[in-house]
Amino acid sequence: MPFRADILTLYPEMFPGPLGISLAGEALRTGLWSLQAHQIREHGIGRHRTVDDSPAGGGAGMVLRCDVLAAAIDAAVPAEDTRPRLLMSPRGRRLDQAYVRELVAGEGVVIVCGRFEGVDERVIEGRGLTEVSVGDYVLSGGEMAALVLLDACVRLIPGVMGKEASGTDESFENGLLEYPQYTRPREWEGRGLPEALLSGDHARIARWRREQAELITRERRPDLLSPSPLGGEGGPAKPGRMREGR
Ligand code: SAH
Repeated sequence: MPFRADILTLYPEMFPGPLGISLAGEALRTGLWSLQAHQIREHGIGRHRTVDDSPAGGGAGMVLRCDVLAAAIDAAVPAEDTRPRLLMSPRGRRLDQAYVRELVAGEGVVIVCGRFEGVDERVIEGRGLTEVSVGDYVLSGGEMAALVLLDACVRLIPGVMGKEASGTDESFENGLLEYPQYTRPREWEGRGLPEALLSGDHARIARWRREQAELITRERRPDLLSPSPLGGEGGPAKPGRMREGR
């Protein structure tokens, strides 16, 4: 069964957005994956279809109501649906390539997009939402985070891209960042190509790429190579495979 994404949002017109073009868009049209955006406001309260209210205990901003969100989720997703239910949230588990692979291996995702100050905590518990973050910064809503997550997933669906996307050479796939890439021309503004790449010696090229990947990773992301002092994130990079999520 193709990968199915159901999105709960106050801005359904943001979907598929950029995922409607290029390879992801082509795959959407040919049915390699599907996406449905649901308007949370349809389950809003009263004549004004209110979806939010002020925070209990006071403070700035507005909070998405748990009853409204739950009604929206229940209408969009049957109870027996076993897909993971995600809530985009800066407090969540940080999205990484290992988690993307895990999601793509399943039947799809249900994604709730927060807005304002966030959502009433009780709906997270009551509907079993898993919070997922795209990074340590704050967006104005979960929609762009959901698009990022879906883009990372969709490119791994078999048939969406050429074989390069599923290869083990890409950044993070083997616990390393990718080696530098080059193409034509052979010389540009006085810069040539690395000797090894011109050698035609496949073993030598592979060795050079591996060395470069290790060098760049050590320089830029030593956390991918060594266990963190807390022992949580960034465990030891196991050769030939991606490190586990946290
Ligand atoms: N007050 C919240 C931030 C709310 S931002 C806090 O401090 O944690 C509004 C919405 O944007 C969130 O509910 C979430 O859905 C989305 N969002 C913001 N930053 C995000 C991030 N880094 N990753 C995923 N979703 C994010």
